[in-house]
Amino acid sequence: MSRILLIILVAGLFHNSLSYGQLDVIHYNLKINPDIGSGTVKGEVIIDFEVPQEQDSVMFACGNMQIDEVNGKNVSSHYTDGNSLIIKLKKKRKSPLSINISYHGKPKNGMKFNSELNQVYTIYSTNEWMVCNDTFSDRATIEMEITVPEGLDCVGSGELQEIIESSDNRIFKWQQSYGTPFYTYGLAIGDFNEATDQVGDKELKYYSPVLTSEELKKLYLETPKMISFFEEKTGIEYPQKTYTQVLMGSFYQEMSGFAVFNEKYAESVFNDSSEIHLTGHELAHQWWGNMITCKNLQHFWLNEAFAVYMASAFHEVHFGPEKYEADIAIYKSIYDGLVKRGLDRSLIFEKWKPTRDNRGIAYYKGAYVLHLLRQELGDEAFWKGVKEYSQKYYGKFVETKDFQESMEQASEKDLSEFFEKWVHN
Ligand SMILES: [Zn+2]
Repeated sequence: MSRILLIILVAGLFHNSLSYGQLDVIHYNLKINPDIGSGTVKGEVIIDFEVPQEQDSVMFACGNMQIDEVNGKNVSSHYTDGNSLIIKLKKKRKSPLSINISYHGKPKNGMKFNSELNQVYTIYSTNEWMVCNDTFSDRATIEMEITVPEGLDCVGSGELQEIIESSDNRIFKWQQSYGTPFYTYGLAIGDFNEATDQVGDKELKYYSPVLTSEELKKLYLETPKMISFFEEKTGIEYPQKTYTQVLMGSFYQEMSGFAVFNEKYAESVFNDSSEIHLTGHELAHQWWGNMITCKNLQHFWLNEAFAVYMASAFHEVHFGPEKYEADIAIYKSIYDGLVKRGLDRSLIFEKWKPTRDNRGIAYYKGAYVLHLLRQELGDEAFWKGVKEYSQKYYGKFVETKDFQESMEQASEKDLSEFFEKWVHN
């Protein structure tokens, strides 16, 4: 038997004998240094977590990062298997555990580098650039120490604590004191112009490498009103002292405490000042998505349909009912198009795949269904239900049945027929 085959067999046996079913991360302490020129990162993360005592190992997602070192007094050994880092734990131990992992590599997804423009930003797949638990239903706090070249700015998850300047780089320390799922952790680095605004005691920051300060202020003009609107609809205050919007690159992504917007977005808003749907969408995720999170991707519509619908609900009060009706007509026509092509399906996905058509279902059929539910219940019961649902599950995880139950309680109506027709079928 060749040596390689023997190693594979032994690793296979070892693998099968392990159990790493449960993992509850409490806190991440990340030091990360993205190298814009080479599109690589070097990171070190201390993960504080709990696992059941009988569990002999734990698994973290590590993308295609090379693991350099794994340290911790409860670590007995480690190995990688595909995109996972498996750590075997000592039997005698006390919770919570703490493990220190050093890694480096070239993220495949999740982090976009632009060496010509000296920019980096993250989109969604945090597990591609940071060793973490890539499970929706695990919420943790995080602090990030991000090293960037001299002269560049940096936004990270949470609140900025301090900037340490040295001769050739700057270290930005960010801290998030409330727990969110892994995909909300992120960063954006570039040479930014800045504008600020205020709503109550919250500070709003707008950054972009391409827009001037005046243009940024114009682009995000309605953000203060949107924050007040979502706070009113949920009865829950936005969880940070600051909210930051960064216009750079070519994607849209909400993260905890900030969002990035495709550079093309500015043009559409400047052409028509009512085209601010995506400002509302990304901001709505600070409640629905980041804090009221679908338990897994089967119930992804609870994150996305809410973001789409709540942006339109803001349009209704801000621009008038015609704008709301026009939005709903767009969602309905996207849905009708899917029906015509034989692609109508349940809002609950057995297995989610991020295709355009699946997004059409989760985002737009979902938003249209929320509109229909509001028509079914009337404004009072609908908004009462949304508020109760949001408060009950804030900082928690949701499945479709949780939403149905909240709406039924608020309206004192049996909605099984409605959910059967519009959600399950
Ligand atoms: Zn979204």
